[in-house]
Amino acid sequence: MAEGKIIKALSGFYYVLSEGKVIQCRGRGVFRKQKITPLVGDYVLFEASSQTDGYIMEVRERKNELVRPPIANVNQAILVFSAVEPDFSSILLDRFLVLVESKKIRPIIVINKMDLLSGKTKPIVEGYIRDYRHIGYDVIATSTVTKSGVEQLLPYLEGRISVFAGQSGVGKSSLLNALRPGLNLKTNDISTHLGRGKHTTRHVELIEIGGGLVADTPGFSALEFNDLEEGQLPLCFPEFLERSHECKFRGCTHMSEPKCAVKKALEAGDIPAYRYNHYVSFMEEIKERKTRY
Ligand code: GDP
Ligand code: ZN
Repeated sequence: MAEGKIIKALSGFYYVLSEGKVIQCRGRGVFRKQKITPLVGDYVLFEASSQTDGYIMEVRERKNELVRPPIANVNQAILVFSAVEPDFSSILLDRFLVLVESKKIRPIIVINKMDLLSGKTKPIVEGYIRDYRHIGYDVIATSTVTKSGVEQLLPYLEGRISVFAGQSGVGKSSLLNALRPGLNLKTNDISTHLGRGKHTTRHVELIEIGGGLVADTPGFSALEFNDLEEGQLPLCFPEFLERSHECKFRGCTHMSEPKCAVKKALEAGDIPAYRYNHYVSFMEEIKERKTRY
């Protein structure tokens, strides 16, 4: 049996990428009994019946599973924001970061439309870029118009399954098109797919870019913390997590406990006020959700 990765599922067929070739497979074998539906992104064992066709016999255990788009084993999210139009929003970025971190997916931050920055907005956006890099995040500043920074994304894609995420209009399709000439995704189209996806089952496809696989549909459209517990939130802020062993209380939530290292860093200006404020508002949101249900 050979091993491969499902890159597309359509009309009962699974398209399995294995050693540079795509084999059209049908499902058969043990996973039927386990009641698993193979997903795009799944690592599978298959038996080839010819050069081009075969049968999936086994689905390997998944690391994770996204609901929309339905993809397994995503290990990276490219969080795309624009510097302006729409304006950069740090609370929206923090929301994406929490969702991604809580699923143990590695985030890469892209700030696109850098060409549109003016004298007034430039230092503000550059300040955010510095802050997020200081936390330890990879931040790439791009423009699909001047092409500046776009190629810096390629090495991050290598060997991984990535999903692009971000508001509509930030330039996700433009970036994908710039990264893979010939792809010709309609700009502004990739996001309208999301709206339609609620009512029809749209198929997802993984496309090869930069030696990795990228979903052709953006992810993380629902930005609610429905699956998140209070205790998880402090783990989703890396600069809090790395200081928490210095908090007086073990399991400190950094809210009102005395001798809190996070509060101390906040007062010293080592943690920006907006990051802490977002943390508090997310915490309140999670607590409120609990009392509602
Ligand atoms: P998506 O909704 O995130 O997929 O965004 P699109 O790729 O459809 O882009 C939305 C709009 O922004 C389009 O009109 C693009 O031409 C424009 N756009 C995308 N990237 C850039 C950029 O780097 N600079 C400028 N000035 N416009 C951009
Ligand atoms: Zn603390």
